[in-house]
Amino acid sequence: MKKEFSVQTHSTSELIDITQEVEKAVAACKVKDGICAIYIPHTTACVCINENADPSVQSDIRNTLDKLIPRDAGYDHAEGNSDAHVKASIIGSSRIILIESGRLLLGRWQGIYFCEFDGPRKRKVILKVLGS
Ligand code: ZN
Repeated sequence: MKKEFSVQTHSTSELIDITQEVEKAVAACKVKDGICAIYIPHTTACVCINENADPSVQSDIRNTLDKLIPRDAGYDHAEGNSDAHVKASIIGSSRIILIESGRLLLGRWQGIYFCEFDGPRKRKVILKVLGS
């Protein structure tokens, strides 16, 4: 089953917790045992799974990426958002999460984060839920 939802981002660089939206979509599919593929159809945004307890983890991820891959570092790409392309490529545009007993098999401290690197924009998240 394919599901989609949109995410409105509010700044250039932002990690947005989408765990509840993904859980809701998986529950609607009524799959008890399977997998959920999360796919981001954008070139300057991506998805990661990381700690959802301390919000400073998300700012540390953003700040570290900004240090490693500065916004203005003399890139060839004329659009001015090469840092966002590089960050999105490194993190990746998809994740797969196992489903057991109808629920995402996330660790206690794990959340799913939509990663914006060239916002603000209206973005799309696509899910494919497979199983029985
Ligand atoms: Zn570009």
